[in-house]
Amino acid sequence: MMAVALDSRGRVLASRKRSTRPGLGPEGVTRRVAGAVRTLLNELGKKSKRVQGVGIGAPGTVDPETGVVLYAPNLEWQEHPLAKRLSQLLGLPVTLDNDVNGGAVGEHALGSGQGARNLVAIFVGTGIGGGVILDNRLYHGSCGGAGEVGHIKIMANGPLCGCGRKGCAEGLASRTAMERDMRRAVDSGRTSLVPAIMARLGRERMTSRVIEEALQAGDPLMEEILERAQNSLGLLVASLVNLLDPDCVVIGGGIADRLKDRFLEPIRTTADRHILRAPHLEPVRILPSRLADHAGAVGAAVLAWNRLAGVHPGDS
Ligand SMILES: [Zn+2]
Repeated sequence: MMAVALDSRGRVLASRKRSTRPGLGPEGVTRRVAGAVRTLLNELGKKSKRVQGVGIGAPGTVDPETGVVLYAPNLEWQEHPLAKRLSQLLGLPVTLDNDVNGGAVGEHALGSGQGARNLVAIFVGTGIGGGVILDNRLYHGSCGGAGEVGHIKIMANGPLCGCGRKGCAEGLASRTAMERDMRRAVDSGRTSLVPAIMARLGRERMTSRVIEEALQAGDPLMEEILERAQNSLGLLVASLVNLLDPDCVVIGGGIADRLKDRFLEPIRTTADRHILRAPHLEPVRILPSRLADHAGAVGAAVLAWNRLAGVHPGDS
């Protein structure tokens, strides 16, 4: 979990990263979140008295109106009244939304999407999540499920996704998918520097740093696997642009933050080939996240700010 303290001009005054420890259960994790917020308040010293509220993003389906996490499979939560409980622990009003929705709001309000009226944000990590801003407002959809871009079909009968379905973008282009492809290729006898880099860095997973080091060393298998993922992401971006015609698409997540244009340029090339757009117009802007791993927390703070300021919930 990432916690940030934001001032009214959107500047990050302090931040803190902490492991979530889902094994603690809903109450234990909520207390852990409260602990992270209290640590930040301590760091702020006298300024902490001016803190008006707390915003939080949870990984899963949420009801922003009631502040309840309806379903968070990675945490194994169902119907947890996170906002109410956290508010009791902290004595401050708490606003809840989905974590990647927060990321989209953060990039729109204070990141690389500033000034865009319509924006799509895509975050590539162990999974692929996203958020949609339409007419300057976060779009939740009918059941709160809008922005699940990781489960848009890219390939009929493609590889299995974490959701149990086949051919989703997440099953093709997340870091988990790239790691699966790497393990399969190495198991089948192809050579790569990745296992040696993972051993040297003491990593059990193919992290963004492992990927970056393999690319810097010119590992052909890593390049090939990354290219396939970038192609899938290009198709995903094109589908989203064809549906929503946004001013820009922001791409974030650990791997995008680390590789920057090395990651984005091939995605732009593929996307441009599949976007239907008048030829005299500039191609849609596909931008790297500016807030990096603060995006979700900053966006949650912006949503809390908007609610306290009396802006319609979901405005950004
Ligand atoms: Zn899926």
